[in-house]
Amino acid sequence: MRVLLQFPEGLKQYVLKRAKELEDEGNEVFISASPTFGACDLAVDEARNIKADKLIHFGHNEFNKVDFDVEFVPVEVDAPLGILENSLDKLSGFGRISVVTTVQHLHQLESIREFYRKNGFEVVVGKPFGFAKVAGQILGCDVGSAARVDRDVDAHVYFGGGRFHPLGAVINTTKPFLMIEPFEGVIQFIDYYRDVHKKRSKGKILAALGAKSIGIMVSTKNGQSNMALGRILKKRVEAHGINAEILISNTFDFESMNNMMEFDAFVNTACPRIAIDDVDRTMKPILSANELSEMLKIREGLAQK
Ligand code: SF4
Repeated sequence: MRVLLQFPEGLKQYVLKRAKELEDEGNEVFISASPTFGACDLAVDEARNIKADKLIHFGHNEFNKVDFDVEFVPVEVDAPLGILENSLDKLSGFGRISVVTTVQHLHQLESIREFYRKNGFEVVVGKPFGFAKVAGQILGCDVGSAARVDRDVDAHVYFGGGRFHPLGAVINTTKPFLMIEPFEGVIQFIDYYRDVHKKRSKGKILAALGAKSIGIMVSTKNGQSNMALGRILKKRVEAHGINAEILISNTFDFESMNNMMEFDAFVNTACPRIAIDDVDRTMKPILSANELSEMLKIREGLAQK
């Protein structure tokens, strides 16, 4: 069988080992060397291009259905659970907590839950909105497992590597949010980020207020593509007398965007985290669809004065 292997950045260090194993089983193996952001970003076009029979995607579970044979290979990472002991002091005073993690640590979720239960907490595990598939799992674009139970808990606990996932969850919840990063040994409330995010968002809206031309970003990735929204936003922007064009890319390159100097602002319809995490990478502001609506409302208000 001819197969194309696709690994997210954090697992690319293992590509050769897995390729050899699959070759030894008699497959013709190719490795996608493109950047990979998630299961929203399947290398289906590359697989079709090389006439692969199958795409094997490591490290994520399914995001959305695609018209190609894709095998998802989960990768479980055992993070040291001993660190949980050090979180008890920080959580004292909270009775009911929610616990969330990433796909790599889902197999440890029950142990984490049990640990807090034994230590007197009532533990709630919420369900995702839909892109994430398992209760307690969060993605950068699906923090339902925390957001859906926000009303019912006193605090949230995130357990897992990195800050990308918990920062997405903290801005979509209101309760104290404890991040436990077991690899760096960091245990920290990250509620401060709600204000950082609000201020940044306000700054972007103000910077885009006088825009005469806006580029609407539409991705071609399987789980990020939203041409319908792109078209709606283009019309909405044009109705306000602002030029708008739809920009197409598989992976938006910020240097290339900076070269399109005629645009005074961009509006993102691709991975929602672009308008949150990558705002310092372009010279012009990148707004979310909601921020665009807010900007247009302010503009209208100013025009009526
Ligand atoms: S946050 Fe962005 S990169 Fe991650 S799964 Fe969602 S759309 Fe993909």
